[in-house]
Amino acid sequence: MAEEQERQAAWTALNAAIVACRKCPRLVAWREEVARVKRRAYQDWDYWGKPVPGFGDPDARVLVVGLAPGAHGANRTGRMFTGDGSGEFLYAALYRAGFANQPQAYHREDGLRLKDMFITAVCRCVPPQNKPTTEELRQCLPYLLRELDLLPNVRVVVTLGRIAFDWTLRAYRQRGYAIPRLTFAHGAVYSLGKGLPWLVASYHPSRQNTQTGRLTPAMFDAVWRKVRELAYRDGPAAGPNTFTPSSDREHSHEGDTGDA
Ligand code: SF4
Repeated sequence: MAEEQERQAAWTALNAAIVACRKCPRLVAWREEVARVKRRAYQDWDYWGKPVPGFGDPDARVLVVGLAPGAHGANRTGRMFTGDGSGEFLYAALYRAGFANQPQAYHREDGLRLKDMFITAVCRCVPPQNKPTTEELRQCLPYLLRELDLLPNVRVVVTLGRIAFDWTLRAYRQRGYAIPRLTFAHGAVYSLGKGLPWLVASYHPSRQNTQTGRLTPAMFDAVWRKVRELAYRDGPAAGPNTFTPSSDREHSHEGDTGDA
């Protein structure tokens, strides 16, 4: 019980630190500017306009890592992938795959719950043109590292887009794991090593990708099917860090290696 309270306190402290963070002057200015000007359709919204913490199940087997809050999505609503086209595409897929209790996400209080999944991002503030700088990503990485510490049951990490892929690998390397150079490809599955989660790479469900057909619902569903299979491969009752990847590294490059 005391352990659970400690863990809850650690989450509360982490999320408070994230929400109060002002380490990147360019992003602080941008997130507040977007929140002040607003999109016409959301003029009556009180935009969040702050860094967005991760959300989901603290006992998650699956960690989803995105890029950054959307300007009028998470930067407006204060919850990852909530209130924009990326979120519509993502949560509909997560609902079909059984990780979400509902297919929509439009507000922090909309009743959405994730089962066995936690969603975060490598950059917590909306960046201009969706492009954080290397320095901004570096500044934000400690928050992801702390989340990894607080999510002991993760067996599969799903990275959405190339930047999330690269910086998630960087997080594990910073933890001292000798992870080789890996190639980003939609549908790629990598074992990171004994005792570490599987890594599954996907294109980001941005409108740019979904409206052009680069990422289709069928392609995305195939990713989540694979994630489910990996997350539950050794039975639902296994404890933390008991998952042992097969010795033969599994690679399933089902797509091209374009960025996303
Ligand atoms: S991007 Fe991350 S490190 Fe930079 S201000 Fe936002 S929360 Fe802080």
